[in-house]
Amino acid sequence: MVEFYKYKETSEFLDPKSNYTHTQQTIEFRKHPLTGSWCRINIDRAKRPHTNNGTLKEVDKKILAIAKKTENCFFCPANVDKKTPKHQKHISPEGRLRNGQFILFPNLFPFAPYHGVGVLKEKHFVSLNNLDARTWENALETTIDWFKKVYSHDSAARFASFNFNYLMPAAASLIHPHIQPIVDKRADNGLDDILKKSWQYSHDNNSNFWQDLLDNDEERYIGKTGKSVYWHASFAPSCANEVVGIVCGKSSFLELDSHDIEGIADGIAKVLRGLYAQGVRSVNMTINSAPLNESLASFFYLNIRIVSRSLMVDDYTTDQGFMELLHKEPVISTIPETIAKNLREYF
Ligand SMILES: [Zn+2]
Repeated sequence: MVEFYKYKETSEFLDPKSNYTHTQQTIEFRKHPLTGSWCRINIDRAKRPHTNNGTLKEVDKKILAIAKKTENCFFCPANVDKKTPKHQKHISPEGRLRNGQFILFPNLFPFAPYHGVGVLKEKHFVSLNNLDARTWENALETTIDWFKKVYSHDSAARFASFNFNYLMPAAASLIHPHIQPIVDKRADNGLDDILKKSWQYSHDNNSNFWQDLLDNDEERYIGKTGKSVYWHASFAPSCANEVVGIVCGKSSFLELDSHDIEGIADGIAKVLRGLYAQGVRSVNMTINSAPLNESLASFFYLNIRIVSRSLMVDDYTTDQGFMELLHKEPVISTIPETIAKNLREYF
């Protein structure tokens, strides 16, 4: 069964802030119930107020200043038809796939055999709380259509993902909001681990991990969108504010119907709005899917993962240090149960 395993340790020292009296801080270690990966949460750091309004105002000012420099943005309407690549004819006779304001074209610097870029809106800068459900629905519909076209042309391209880097701390090179869908011929490290461990869990427990998680995670439950998309804060996050959306009963992009897509889109918009209200200004997102030609819903459900990244203050420090990159053990300062509580009101 799903195990939410955690333990605490204390670290003791003489505190310069209180005349070198003895003090201690608690570190909570949590094990991911599926992957077995550990993370550590410093409860004292996590209790700090999430945002300092003064700092947040400065960050917003800085983002708006960057957003004003629109000249030469490839994704703005004046340039997008002239400066972005086109798909080959068998993928799209027009060269680019469109749906409302959403436009999908190939990545100019790909790192997968099929690597797209999808501009979400015409507007050069849209804050996280204004990326609404309709925007995500258009993007998802068209991206899934692209996955189908790619797969029907190349049946080895089975591993599809829908990815989002928003603002520079999340590795976006342009401020204009865009997603990056990928279709690979093998599962990337993260997906491979999740698929294998989901299968192993089902083999060991004769049960579906994702269903068991839905049935046993009330403490971190945030809400439901559409008919069957359930949102939770991750028990053992891989990065700050990790939220996971689970599409009950569906494993791959090609199994999703219009209700599922509406539910995913609505949930993404709600999570982003809620995180924005908590002071988040930069996020990464991915959607993990079973291979396009398989239905693995007996042991794996399609899932959406959203994490927040560093606040873009002047000379900000990245949130990926030696622990995260080299020891593969994230240090977290947001408490999952608090994240769930704070986001519930947006659902
Ligand atoms: Zn632009």
